[in-house]
Amino acid sequence: MTRRSLPDRAKVLIAGGGIGGLAAALALAQKGIGSLVLEKASRLGEIGAGIQLGPNAFHCFDRLGVGETARQMAVYIDQLRLMDSMADGEICHIDLGDTFRKRYGNPYAVVHRGDLHGVLLKACRDHPLIELRVSSEVVGYDQSKKSVTAKLGNGETVTGTALIGADGLWSNVRRQVVGDGKPRVSGHTTYRSVIPTEQMPEDLRWNAATLWAGPKCHIVHYPLSGWKVFNLVVTYHNDAPEPVAGQPVPVEEVRRGFAHVCERAQNIIRHGVDWKMWVLCDRDPVENWIDGRVALLGDAAHPMMQYMAQGACMAMEDAVCLADSLAHAAGDLPAGLVRYRDRRVLRTTRVQLMSRAMGDHVYHPDGPHAALRNAIMNAKSQAEWYTALDWLYGGNGLD
Ligand SMILES: Cc1cc2nc3c(=O)[nH]c(=O)nc-3n(C[C@H](O)[C@H](O)[C@H](O)COP(=O)(O)OP(=O)(O)OC[C@H]3O[C@@H](n4cnc5c(N)ncnc54)[C@H](O)[C@@H]3O)c2cc1C
Repeated sequence: MTRRSLPDRAKVLIAGGGIGGLAAALALAQKGIGSLVLEKASRLGEIGAGIQLGPNAFHCFDRLGVGETARQMAVYIDQLRLMDSMADGEICHIDLGDTFRKRYGNPYAVVHRGDLHGVLLKACRDHPLIELRVSSEVVGYDQSKKSVTAKLGNGETVTGTALIGADGLWSNVRRQVVGDGKPRVSGHTTYRSVIPTEQMPEDLRWNAATLWAGPKCHIVHYPLSGWKVFNLVVTYHNDAPEPVAGQPVPVEEVRRGFAHVCERAQNIIRHGVDWKMWVLCDRDPVENWIDGRVALLGDAAHPMMQYMAQGACMAMEDAVCLADSLAHAAGDLPAGLVRYRDRRVLRTTRVQLMSRAMGDHVYHPDGPHAALRNAIMNAKSQAEWYTALDWLYGGNGLD
């Protein structure tokens, strides 16, 4: 397809070319709406390794027109498995086989972030209604009744019909729309690594997203990239005071927070290489994601802890809902943005708050609190687990 540059006033501006921003561009294109993605970095890409995708992500892929390619890159796991890292035993698991897939209409999978971003990026590059620009940091905006003008870090301006702030946790667009200061530093430090499958302890090469829960710490692992590697994410609630993103650290530092867990769990960490560290942040939910022709999406709107593995899934749902709402608004763009916000805010609030609660009550409890977790979670049948997940994976998450 040949690419025409759209006249400025005919396109939606999107700040940020992460999973949320690219999904928004694709969703809008599916409705015949052109967009210009403005990415701060000098190249489009993703850091970090694995990401879990619930069935709701696959509903979105279909609506974004990338269902088939997205399905090809995924590893389909059999279980979500919760282990007790003190007692070295399983607490419970959720089966992700046929019954799960039938109930939710789609599978649960794990993918490499780079692969997921790559699928979205290729589809954007191939679409004549989408323009991508790098080295373009959006620092603020002005708007009139008919248009919005994004101000870029290099002094340039770009005008469009709307501005979508998909610029992540430290969003500049949010600073102007909401103005609620810096994100909350959670005090949870996450370390990420990837190891070749043959170096993963043999008795733990499970086709599952496995979580070892322990006092103030946990370990997550799952196979990735056609089983070539295992993704390792370990988190230590050490009350870290400052945000950090992607800083290399030695394995000794990672091991420090896990000296109290069972030998088998400690052993997983010993196999990690090239560890990188993040101090996680989130925000309290807010409702005011909209300012006239400007709206927030993804982490810019509702940054959350990763404990429900839903941040990227929510960003893609936002994207589909945004495009749907604008198409429905038949030219009244500000009304379309309000409709989008109204349809998304309760669901994303629920995921934000539950993600925090899961850190406290499932991932990190100790003593009788942990024993209570084990008793409650161990008592649930598969049918009860599915009922508990219906609100998240049932329907298409958008209606
Ligand atoms: C350890 C960890 C594990 C996770 N696991 C999962 C999981 O299993 N499943 C899941 O669904 N989610 C998971 N998440 C959450 C998920 O990574 C995020 O929610 C998701 O990436 C948010 O996408 P986004 O596009 O909104 O923001 P981002 O990914 O932050 O993208 C923002 C983009 O905007 C650019 N940008 C920033 N500022 C500007 C600006 N001013 N102007 C222009 N461009 C700008 C950035 O360079 C970036 O490209 C996890 C998160 C963490 C930290």
